[in-house]
Amino acid sequence: MPATIIDGKAVAASIRQDAAERAARFKEEYGRAPGLAVVIVGDDPASRVYVNSKKKACAGCSIYSEEHTLPANVAETELLDLVRRLNSDPKIDGILVQLPLPDHISEDKVIETIAPAKDVDGFHPINVGNLVVGKPALRPCTPAGIMELIRRTGVELKGKHAVVVGRSNIVGKPVALMLLAQHATVTICHSRTVDLPSVCRTADVLVAAVGRPEMIKGDWIKPGAVVIDVGVNRIAEKKLVGDVDFDGASAVAAAITPVPGGVGPMTIAMLMQNCVEAAFAAQR
Ligand code: NDP
Repeated sequence: MPATIIDGKAVAASIRQDAAERAARFKEEYGRAPGLAVVIVGDDPASRVYVNSKKKACAGCSIYSEEHTLPANVAETELLDLVRRLNSDPKIDGILVQLPLPDHISEDKVIETIAPAKDVDGFHPINVGNLVVGKPALRPCTPAGIMELIRRTGVELKGKHAVVVGRSNIVGKPVALMLLAQHATVTICHSRTVDLPSVCRTADVLVAAVGRPEMIKGDWIKPGAVVIDVGVNRIAEKKLVGDVDFDGASAVAAAITPVPGGVGPMTIAMLMQNCVEAAFAAQR
């Protein structure tokens, strides 16, 4: 039987709807909407697209948003000063600095300057540390979105073998920690892993976050597995593919995310959820 297609667009829409309802409740209780500040440095077209879609999502969820655009040659100190001002701005609950930043600016320094309580990307070392030790924290959006998609398949993670291919700080490592917190037995693979196909074949849940078009083949998939494809690879002007060979894998898996329309829409939805969460948490 072909795999169930996990509809990330539909799940993301329901999460945004929920965020919008909670944002409205926040406004009723506290007299203002939750607020997100988005900072963009330079005029990278991809960053511009992401920032615009984040602002649009905020508008759809009744979250106040403001954009701060700085020139590509802005001094690092100026950017850090802006982040500090936003840290103490009472109408701002979440701060997002669009990455990547120009080479002369330290991304680490910028992330570490964001107040952890307003770090809606979940990249601050304090939030990462809280994730490691299992304490409440703002969670990074893409991994949180992946977990929500897995949760909605109804698969019980306890005792299952989850294999994560990719060990980046923004996807692979945090999603592995989240799977571990749900009592999966977790294997993290990367570019030096020996015999990756064999490791993948043991996965009840396979998360692919590599950035290599259709690298993971159908015969690497365990029959009945849940496959989450995080990869976004442009192979032609209008053609995006994931890290998994979708046709091959969907003949074997129980459930699989498509690309596009799987993990992609979840990232911004979880960002909306984090903004509302940060707003309520600041009032507690
Ligand atoms: P990175 O480039 O930061 O990390 C890629 C990881 O894949 C690394 O850990 C690397 O290993 C590993 N890797 C590379 N080649 C191989 C190989 N041949 N075999 C096994 N492992 C390999 O990527 P990201 O984590 O940032 O992103 C991964 C993918 O997810 C990309 O396609 C990106 O576009 C997409 N993405 C999608 C998002 C969304 O949908 N919202 C959000 C974020 C990312 P090593 O560490 O050894 O180098």
